[in-house]
Amino acid sequence: MINDLVESCIINLFIILICVQINYFWHVKREAVENNNYLAVFIALAGSLFINRLFFVSEINSSLALHIGDLVIIIGILYGRAWIGTTLFIILVVLSTIIHPLHGLYSFLTSLPPLLITLYLRKIYVKIPLNKKYTQAVLISLVSSIISMSLANVFFSDQWALLDSILYMLVYVGGLLGLVYYMENLKRSRILKREIINTEKLQAVSHLAASISHEVRNPLTATKGFLQLLKSDDNLSKEKKQQFIDIAISELNRAENIINDYLAFAKPSMELQETIEIQSEINKVIEIVKPLANMNAVFIQCHVPVFYVNGEKHLFQQCFVNLVKNAIESMQGGGVLILEAQQSKKGINITISDTGIGMTDEQLGRLGEPYFSTKGIKGTGLGMVAVYRIVKSMHGSIRVKSKPQEGTTFTIYLPGHP
Ligand code: ADP
Ligand code: MG
Repeated sequence: MINDLVESCIINLFIILICVQINYFWHVKREAVENNNYLAVFIALAGSLFINRLFFVSEINSSLALHIGDLVIIIGILYGRAWIGTTLFIILVVLSTIIHPLHGLYSFLTSLPPLLITLYLRKIYVKIPLNKKYTQAVLISLVSSIISMSLANVFFSDQWALLDSILYMLVYVGGLLGLVYYMENLKRSRILKREIINTEKLQAVSHLAASISHEVRNPLTATKGFLQLLKSDDNLSKEKKQQFIDIAISELNRAENIINDYLAFAKPSMELQETIEIQSEINKVIEIVKPLANMNAVFIQCHVPVFYVNGEKHLFQQCFVNLVKNAIESMQGGGVLILEAQQSKKGINITISDTGIGMTDEQLGRLGEPYFSTKGIKGTGLGMVAVYRIVKSMHGSIRVKSKPQEGTTFTIYLPGHP
């Protein structure tokens, strides 16, 4: 009997792995849009739980195959969220009860202790180094497997030989260790991938230093040329003069745009750290962009309470001016722009939502790349570079959600003021 059960356990472990891997592939595809999709993690784990219940429990009708479902709950809590594990627990009990009320009761009694223990350990678990994680996993799985074996005797009158018990425990503990190893690797590769993207962006930014002066010099040279023409040629017609002046002004505007969008570039590091009160700073930003908003028939709603972050005021302002400007520019036919801020455990989240043209996945992927702009001659493609750089220098991070034709939401996470 034990061989069959061990075999079913291993197959179940594989099913969990396959479901998690499918979730990962799906995740990689959407990397640019979202960073952590817990619903997807939940669906993957619930999927493996369903397969376990439907195909293995009724067939083998024993406690051991039943019990492997607990691993899904444990992994759901340790690598997802508390609600994932709790919901999986409920699904497990309900499904088992449907199969047989006795199974339901057994699942409830055997899964509750690992659920509670894991929920309790979760806070510690996310912070500790890898080897300690393994120790905790061994602990949880030992407790869990001993409870299930003891209860199996009562519920199913399974007679466990000592060797069988040891073998079962080994499979169970080894199974959880394997899953932890696998999840840790997935996590690491995800972090690495994000870091590579960030490094690439940063590298591009440093190349920018050289080209930015070139970018500004071009319009200046053109302006100088036209001014010299105006000075040297007295026979120019009035229209010609007007035309030259217009060109000179538009070229100067362009130079100004480049400098404005990329003001932060001249200041690579945050030298001056001060306490920023975000409500008044955001209000100043709104004042600056008001004329542009009015021109585009954009209505600005601001729900930003008094919160504090650390950084440099004018860089903070510049960052938000760039974001808000982009949001307004994305709503050519008018719209609503909402600025909000919330306090979370780790700091302050500031969101900027627009109802504008949005971005495709490809555009999202290129966001923050120097000179990437969809605005033709009007765009500089430098605003977002500055935004990324400023947020990074404030030790914050940026998340973007966007749908073409529906709008975009930027969320800026900044560590709170201690
Ligand atoms: P620019 O505004 O000069 O084009 P940015 O670096 O500020 O340069 O923005 C780069 C590009 O990112 C924009 O051209 C636009 O395509 C896209 N973008 C940025 N923010 C938004 C937004 N809120 N909605 C739609 N597209 C946006
Ligand atoms: Mg811009």
